[in-house]
Amino acid sequence: MELTDNQKERIIDVFQNAKFQTKDRFIFQTETPEDKKYLESIYLGVFKKKLNPGCGACSLVMLNFLRIKVGLPSLVNDSGKGLYKKRIYICKGCDRLNSLGTNCKECGCLIHIKARFKIFKCPLGKWKNV
Ligand code: SF4
Repeated sequence: MELTDNQKERIIDVFQNAKFQTKDRFIFQTETPEDKKYLESIYLGVFKKKLNPGCGACSLVMLNFLRIKVGLPSLVNDSGKGLYKKRIYICKGCDRLNSLGTNCKECGCLIHIKARFKIFKCPLGKWKNV
């Protein structure tokens, strides 16, 4: 799905008026609840699937995807491939990884998403040294 100019403008506007922080912890607060619903509906239109509303990693992926789509800078700026690979290696050896190798049984997150963003931590502290 390609975004129209109106959709792009509205998305940029939502980001410009939102409170946003990814450094120490993930905070994303839009000016109105409708603004956030708008972003989610656009994302749903692209991927045809809903996000887990309580999952910070899912939200961050959605926001990052939309930012790139409208020409805003990516949020993935400090978790290069080295970090991702090391984290995934740890998860693969962890007994809390589900049998499909996709989700952590502690936090429920998709590890291939969560491991890409430096702000997210392993719930058992196993990523501490990477
Ligand atoms: S995030 Fe932590 S607890 Fe979860 S599977 Fe990975 S290493 Fe294990």
